[in-house]
Amino acid sequence: MICVGGLHGNEPMGAVGLQRVVQTLQSRNPTLNGSFFALAGNLTALELGCRFVGKDLNRIWSRENIHSLRSDAVSGNLHSDRKEQYELLSLIEEILGSEFSEIYFVDLHTSSADGGPFAIFGDSLRNRRFGKHLPVTLILGLEEQIHGTLLEWFGELGAVTLGFEAGQHDAPSSAALHEAAVWIALVASGVLPAEECPELAGARTSLSAEAAELPRVVQVLHRHEVQALDDFRMEPGYRNFQAVRKNQLLAKDRNGEIRSPLSGGILLPLYQTQGSDGFFLVQGISRLWLGLSAILRLARLSALVPWLPGVSRHPKLERTVIVNRHVARWLVVQLFHLLGYRKQREEAGRLVFTRRDRG
Ligand SMILES: [Zn+2]
Repeated sequence: MICVGGLHGNEPMGAVGLQRVVQTLQSRNPTLNGSFFALAGNLTALELGCRFVGKDLNRIWSRENIHSLRSDAVSGNLHSDRKEQYELLSLIEEILGSEFSEIYFVDLHTSSADGGPFAIFGDSLRNRRFGKHLPVTLILGLEEQIHGTLLEWFGELGAVTLGFEAGQHDAPSSAALHEAAVWIALVASGVLPAEECPELAGARTSLSAEAAELPRVVQVLHRHEVQALDDFRMEPGYRNFQAVRKNQLLAKDRNGEIRSPLSGGILLPLYQTQGSDGFFLVQGISRLWLGLSAILRLARLSALVPWLPGVSRHPKLERTVIVNRHVARWLVVQLFHLLGYRKQREEAGRLVFTRRDRG
């Protein structure tokens, strides 16, 4: 299990929580079924107390970026956040060079808004099984809206992944909640035997106490993207999961008012100057949908997808199909989610989906 805290430099509580776990483990020296690596993310930004210096270290893990990162490292052309990224990449590759049967990756974050905690992961059955161990709200579909995250990169490598948001950046509870999440994840991954973790029961209690009033599973339906010169200002007082109505005033920018396109809950409203996600809107998912989608995926109905009208296999990418939106009109995205596909991109009336589980 690899765990990163402080990938964003203004979110030091993840690294603090990790440090506490490491210190406890070192003093107790339990027998582990595997290895546990705790890494601090953006060291320069952590020192400066800002999200990043030049580039967001959690938006630059696309295949193309990693490729240019390697060639720029060879030519000595790396500065600030990309230098941090290269150091992190080298460290992770060194870890992955050793022998293992399974990789678990946990990424720890906090937010500028109040409210939480919650967990984020790509909706594969393996990720669901891991994420369900945390007694907090589970968020599906966020990774479809944000590209180039470290979580997504680990997912592409075949790791079981989990992102954890503890709450507000400088809330005193955030470090303790991170610590609790890491204990639970260590046991859930099988790395730390439950009998070697006296913290487990307390960790579950403190997380469920914080998340008691919140929904169990939600999906992200909308992201408001912020550009550098937008002069984006969130209306004051929004908390994670706060209910909003369609057309409710959420924020303002240089073009005027920004109103909610739908009724639902607000997630990660932006109350800091750095960052490109203004806010997200979420809606609850029923247990019926979750159960049904698990059954459909286990029955491998997704294998029939390329034979549906308006659907064709991608000529180059495995597990990927192209959907003609004009033919496959009805509930396209929801249907594909149900079968375990995620949307990659939209181009000229066509949608590209990739299946998450690798069989
Ligand atoms: Zn973050």
